[in-house]
Amino acid sequence: MIISVASGKGGTGKTLVSTSLALSLKDDYDVTIADCDVEEPNDHIFLKPQITGNEPVNIQVPVVAEEKCTFCGKCAKVCAFNAIAVFGNHVLTFPQLCHGCGACSYLCPEKAITEEDRHIGVVEWGDAKGIEFVQGILTVGEAMAPPVIRQVKERACGEGIIIRDAPPGTSCPVVETIRDSDFCLLLTEPTPFGLNDLTLAVETVKELGIPFGVVINRTGAGDAGVEDYCKKEKIPVLMRIPLDTEIARIYSRGIALVDGMPGWKSRFVQLFKDIKEIADERTDSVKR
Ligand code: SF4
Ligand code: SF4
Repeated sequence: MIISVASGKGGTGKTLVSTSLALSLKDDYDVTIADCDVEEPNDHIFLKPQITGNEPVNIQVPVVAEEKCTFCGKCAKVCAFNAIAVFGNHVLTFPQLCHGCGACSYLCPEKAITEEDRHIGVVEWGDAKGIEFVQGILTVGEAMAPPVIRQVKERACGEGIIIRDAPPGTSCPVVETIRDSDFCLLLTEPTPFGLNDLTLAVETVKELGIPFGVVINRTGAGDAGVEDYCKKEKIPVLMRIPLDTEIARIYSRGIALVDGMPGWKSRFVQLFKDIKEIADERTDSVKR
């Protein structure tokens, strides 16, 4: 079962929930945690894994042999990302914009385009207290997170429960992370900003047809807007985590919530049961 933990904005507690969910389930299930927040992976801070392997992430970018080129412009026309351009008798490439789709080299009538590897990041894996741990790290200055995320997902493909910690927001890296999940947990906080970002995240998961529920972090502060919205839209609120100085203190010291406050473990086990019930209902209704 693949559970993605996502949020419309950063700093809402994805890491807190992902790591505590994994730690709460590891004694009863095979659990893999996949940190897909490749620009700023930080599950490792709380799980302290022993890294046992790694592999580079490369994408194939075009190299143009201008002596073969007729400057027809077909490569520039097919590129959806403006990563290749023809100016007079020159072809310019912009490797940092290239998605490595291969369309330009495939369509070049003169076979003037070859491809070379461009290193954009690394995937690491190991063991974290009995949890299979995988994380992607996008090289600083690179913008192409989806290929790194795809490689994290390929590595984190165990049989048991896979928890994917998604990047914040609702753009391509988030869609790449969550699109084949069985369930998506949306983190938010009870503020107008939280509500705005939650509505965007809800639109995204609905568009992808993924069952979902909400966790509200830092309850007790802010307003009732998120609760009212979830009630109106019939979105299940599966957990509420209070604004609490002890939780903040534990988090700031790099300690997972269920390690610092073991009483929370049963709540995360119940959270998983609720997730499974909703996901199973969806599976049954699709079969019918
Ligand atoms: S498609 Fe090939 S021949 Fe045409 S401009 Fe691009 S590199 Fe040159
Ligand atoms: S490989 Fe794809 S994204 Fe990269 S320059 Fe060619 S067409 Fe554009």
